[in-house]
Amino acid sequence: MSHLGKAEQADIAEPADTAESTCSVDVHTHIFCWGENPEEGYLSENTRKAWKTRFVLRFSGILKEPGETISEKMRNRLIRHIQTSGLDYAVVLAQDAVYHEDGSRNDPDTHFYVSNDHVFNLARDCSQVLPGCSINPIRSDALKELERCRAAGARLVKLHTAIQGVDPSRAEFDPFYKLANELGVVLMFHTGWEHSCKVVSQQFTDPLKLERPLDHGGPVIAAHCGSCAWYDKEQYYPRFVEMMNRYENLFGDTAIMASMNRGFSLRRMRREEEWLKRRILHGSDYPFPTAHLPFLFRTGLFPSERKNPLDLDLRVKRSFKFGPGYAGQVLKLLGVEPSSPVPQPPLSTPGARE
Ligand SMILES: [Zn+2]
Repeated sequence: MSHLGKAEQADIAEPADTAESTCSVDVHTHIFCWGENPEEGYLSENTRKAWKTRFVLRFSGILKEPGETISEKMRNRLIRHIQTSGLDYAVVLAQDAVYHEDGSRNDPDTHFYVSNDHVFNLARDCSQVLPGCSINPIRSDALKELERCRAAGARLVKLHTAIQGVDPSRAEFDPFYKLANELGVVLMFHTGWEHSCKVVSQQFTDPLKLERPLDHGGPVIAAHCGSCAWYDKEQYYPRFVEMMNRYENLFGDTAIMASMNRGFSLRRMRREEEWLKRRILHGSDYPFPTAHLPFLFRTGLFPSERKNPLDLDLRVKRSFKFGPGYAGQVLKLLGVEPSSPVPQPPLSTPGARE
């Protein structure tokens, strides 16, 4: 099911005869749960009250969406935006909890949680959704959950280094990385300083810490390419470039890189050599908004894609011409054939806890 979006049509300089060049996939989108059903997912009270959360709620139009609860409104909005976009697929990411060192769940310190079953349910309701699971490797049942998620159809697992308190360089995570590799599951790690939620450590987001999972040989995606905001105390992007030089199995996604405080990072990456840009994947970080203003000269004042935030993000980023496989090559990494139906996960067990 490949259909060219308007953004792709605009990019006529790129070949259009392979799945990698004609398909468009957003590998990094989020769903949030307000917390009406905490088993499904929640934001902590602190996160719900944070100005950034209130900003997104107010200016994204979520509250005007159909739905009985805020979670339903967010879900309906995401599905509507995906279905009306030019995307073939969107990977929707779950978000595992913080865990104690003994492997038990630490609910009081978990401020943002989305269960894996919630993204499986979304994938069942919308065939364009690819479930992106999230498993904190500190949890005592991490390997079991990885096997369960793979069996249910997940091809990608995200580890949020900063929020989940995961230092990717820990030797005790080797069995987790090994199993992911054996199961053909792509590992995605958050890299670059995190600003949207309370963090355990910003230093865990250093791309140099990806050595250990990369040494297992499977594909690893450094979300955000190690980019930090211009005002952050450290800049990890040069370390992302260093790791791209060292590891051919490392990829980067462009999530949040078209925001006001990271817009410079797309321009910087545009100047990199071709071999590096060919391993850059499209990700939006939806529902975090794409800044249109800094990219007006690339998109024009009123691009048709502005009506859909997923399309607008792709339009902005494709204008940087990172490579012909920018928006589609991730399908190959995920083992998804564009012409074949996405494997449908089995029904989840009601009340199953992550
Ligand atoms: Zn994200």
